[in-house]
Amino acid sequence: MSADTLCLWCHRQVDSQDSIELPDGGKHPIHPEHRSPAEAFLAKASKFGIFFIIAMALGTPIFVVGIILTSNTPVWSNAIMGAMLTFIGVVMVALPFCTPQTVQWLGLRKSIVLARVLGLGMLTWGVATAGFSLLA
Ligand SMILES: [Zn+2]
Repeated sequence: MSADTLCLWCHRQVDSQDSIELPDGGKHPIHPEHRSPAEAFLAKASKFGIFFIIAMALGTPIFVVGIILTSNTPVWSNAIMGAMLTFIGVVMVALPFCTPQTVQWLGLRKSIVLARVLGLGMLTWGVATAGFSLLA
């Protein structure tokens, strides 16, 4: 089954000619009933995508520097590591943007669920890591 007849949102076959315009100017098939959630998500992505990139590109190195600077005190470097995972988790839950390849593979709806599940996992892992290192 060719990916160019699958709905952008739910990734099931689209039999009609309905399509949605992508930010890159391309068009993608979509079920009429899935146009509005897909448009809402694309609008959110175009508005907040830059915050996601800035958060990941600036936030993560700051934590990494913190981990390196505190490498002599494992309690603190573990706590900062936990904070970093929590931070990435929160960003992914709030802004569940996957790579275009993932969207291509799963469809938009499942890629959002996947990003949120991964985000929640990292958040939980981060809180546990920080908690254990500070309380231990
Ligand atoms: Zn659909």
